Amino acid sequence: MAKQADSTHQQMAQSSSATRNGPLSGPLGIALFVALFASAGYLTYRTLTTAPIPPTEPVEMTFLCIETMKPFEGKMVEGDKWPVMSPHSGKLTGYPVERCYWTKDGKRKKEPTYVVLNESMGKSGDTICPDCGRLVVGHNPIPTEDVPLADEDIPKEDKPAAPSPTTQPAE
Ligand SMILES: [Zn+2]
Repeated sequence: MAKQADSTHQQMAQSSSATRNGPLSGPLGIALFVALFASAGYLTYRTLTTAPIPPTEPVEMTFLCIETMKPFEGKMVEGDKWPVMSPHSGKLTGYPVERCYWTKDGKRKKEPTYVVLNESMGKSGDTICPDCGRLVVGHNPIPTEDVPLADEDIPKEDKPAAPSPTTQPAE
């Protein structure tokens, strides 16, 4: 009787000590914690440094052929590098463009000026729009709605606006 009570007590002591030194409190637990923490940190890092587009999905982009100064549409898969083949020059002279919608006198225009960033061409220094003289940056901001539209170009509306590529992707 007493012996049985003793052994029950021992079992309880063992089980309570097992709870205290549970699987997550020893060196293994610390290692596990570190591993989880590290992988969480890595995932956060990945999320912050990876574009939201799946890597295999081609992105439609506008390029500017810096030899002919004509824009063209193309696709890039993440990891691709420019310059890309330009249909205008037949050479690797296509660079991704930024769009500048400003006119010289501070108005908005409907057809942007295509500008290739110096950075994209491996050059240093600020990129200045050749049309309006403004600074052009990556993801160049467009003028807000309250900027008056430049309307002196309206008589040109009969003509085709920008030299657009003749072949459009059938999508
Ligand atoms: Zn401009």
